[in-house]
Amino acid sequence: MRNVIDEVYSILDGISPKEIRFLRERDPFRFLCQVVLSAQTTDEAVNVVSKALFVAFPDKHSLATADSREVEEIIHRLGFFRTKAKHLIELAKALDGKDIPRDIPSLCALPGVGRKTANCYLGDILGQPAVIVDTHFGRVVRRLGLVDSDDPTVIEREIRASLESGKWYRFSMMVNLFGRTICHARNPQCSTCPLATLCPSKDAVRKGTST
Ligand code: SF4
Repeated sequence: MRNVIDEVYSILDGISPKEIRFLRERDPFRFLCQVVLSAQTTDEAVNVVSKALFVAFPDKHSLATADSREVEEIIHRLGFFRTKAKHLIELAKALDGKDIPRDIPSLCALPGVGRKTANCYLGDILGQPAVIVDTHFGRVVRRLGLVDSDDPTVIEREIRASLESGKWYRFSMMVNLFGRTICHARNPQCSTCPLATLCPSKDAVRKGTST
C-alpha cells in the first residue's frame, strides 16, 4: 500500500509545472543573497529589488566592500533592511575569494544563512536532495497530517524520513507552490482541492478550527 505522502507527491506531480522556481538568479552567490533577502517578503519583490542591488554590487568583492547605507537604500522596501544589508555584506566578506560551501553545516555557519536558506541553495543551485521548510510548506504538510509539529527542524526531519531523498526537492517546491495557490493560510480552496480526499483538515479548515 502506498503512503499518503507518496499519494500527495503523485497528485501534485500531475498538476505542477515541470520546473518550479521562485527566485530568478542562477549565479550561486547572487542566489544565496536572494534567499537571505526573501525573509518576511515576497519572492517577486526580491526578484525586482535584487536586480538593482546586483547592478550596483555585481559580485562578492564589491558587496564585501560596500557602504551599508547604500545597500540599505536599495533594499529598504523589502523590510528588515538594516539586518539584511548587514547580513549581505558579512556574507560577501565571508565568501570573498572563496568557494561557497556545499553542505548544510558549513552553509549554516555563514552570516544570515539558516537551514531554510541552506536547503534552498542545495536543492536549487546544487541539485542535491533538500527539504525546504517555509511557512507555506509547514502549513500544508501539517494540514495534510504528514507532520504534527510547528518546528521547522522537526518538520524537515519527518519529511526526510517519510520520502525517498530523490523526491525531497521537487516535493518541497510543489508543496510550496500549492500553499501559495490553493491551500492558502486564509480561505484555502478546499472545495476544489485535488488533495481533498486525502486531507484530514478539510472540514476543520472550513470551520476555522485548523491552522
Ligand atoms: S483540502 Fe483544504 S486544507 Fe486540505 S490540502 Fe486541500 S486546500 Fe488545504
